[in-house]
Amino acid sequence: MSRATLAIHGGSTAKTKPFPEWPIYDEREAAAVVAVLESRQWAQSSGSQVAAFEREFAAYHGAGGALAVGNGTQAIELSLLAHGIGRGDEVIVPAFTYIATATAVLCVNAVPTLADVDPHTYCLDPAAVEAAITPRTRAIMPVHMAGHVTDMDALNTVARRHGLVVIEEAAIAHGSEWRGRRVGALGDSAIFSFQAIKAMTAGEGGIIISNNAEFIDRCFLFGNGRSRQVNRAALGRDQVLGSNCRLAEMPAAMLRVQLQRLDKQIARREHNAALLDQLLGDVEGVTPQGRDGRVTRHCHSMYMFRYNAAAFGDMPGREFVEALNAEGVPAFQAFTAVHHTPLFRQRSFAPRWRADDPLLPDYTSARHPVAEVLADEVVCLHHRVLLGDEADVNELVGAIEKIRAHQATACVA
Ligand SMILES: *Cc1c(COP(=O)(O)O)cnc(C)c1O
Repeated sequence: MSRATLAIHGGSTAKTKPFPEWPIYDEREAAAVVAVLESRQWAQSSGSQVAAFEREFAAYHGAGGALAVGNGTQAIELSLLAHGIGRGDEVIVPAFTYIATATAVLCVNAVPTLADVDPHTYCLDPAAVEAAITPRTRAIMPVHMAGHVTDMDALNTVARRHGLVVIEEAAIAHGSEWRGRRVGALGDSAIFSFQAIKAMTAGEGGIIISNNAEFIDRCFLFGNGRSRQVNRAALGRDQVLGSNCRLAEMPAAMLRVQLQRLDKQIARREHNAALLDQLLGDVEGVTPQGRDGRVTRHCHSMYMFRYNAAAFGDMPGREFVEALNAEGVPAFQAFTAVHHTPLFRQRSFAPRWRADDPLLPDYTSARHPVAEVLADEVVCLHHRVLLGDEADVNELVGAIEKIRAHQATACVA
């Protein structure tokens, strides 16, 4: 099939049977939602679902407490506020991540300091972190990329040496493990997202977990504008300038069921990702995300690989992704390097910040070479491609090989 017509040019698709759909649900989610509906207790103030989900999700990750919120971005902002981070403080984040990791820092009036990532794991490089530390640095926010855990041994060592807070940005790392320990309790606190593309979802949602009960209480304070202990007599005295970040009962009820599915889904993705790694090892121009041997469980909330256009007749990454989608493989390009986004280039953070605020670094002169290359080369596959069987994985590899064979021969023709 070396010259098979690409689906993008009107040929038949390489994928003959569709991948499993996402999100996955059954009558258990339906029953959970209907039970909340019929209880008429739709808010956490009178219901029990949010509180139960907080307990279950924290326990699953080996943490003592949790606060469920509206989304992952709110979870980052509240965590920073509750750790006492604000104007004049610097927070180190990877230059290769979803932009919300960095913008959430700006939204609490603190400054994101970008650091480069490891070319194999795509996670924060501890040496780059250490080099980025200044007297203003207060926290490090490692992103466990697609479920690959950051080198927490090295990062915690750096953090301890400099007295820094470590917030695990585990928005896409539900259930991943570092040397047998789940993410979420490897630093001072952690955040997760339940947005629709993540490994468990209620459409939107987020959570903060930590072993520090007092910290979780402070998160509640800023996410509610008042303390957790409702004391009518003290009302007014227990209020702070906060927001409302509360999760409702229905998504919490759905997430309790989604959490029960997580182990099985991770096991399937781990199995299929291992096969995919092996098969793609033989495809020129494609290099899967590497894996640190200390990552004992990788939730694969995406499957990421580097795409080398030279091996595909110089087909641009954007076109390769379009061609893959046409063949029936849900693919997308991940992230622009944070310092290359228009927002950071122009420091257009109004109305919170003036572009010439002396606290803001010049992001345009920054160089984070690995993040820049990854932003160019990394292609992501939706994790549902790993939820099928081995035939699905074989067809996926077939789709990539079809495009490569077409491009390679198209070039010399
Ligand atoms: C999705 C995501 C977030 C934000 O979560 P939301 O729930 O969409 O606000 C933050 N960081 C990363 C790495 C993400 O993928």
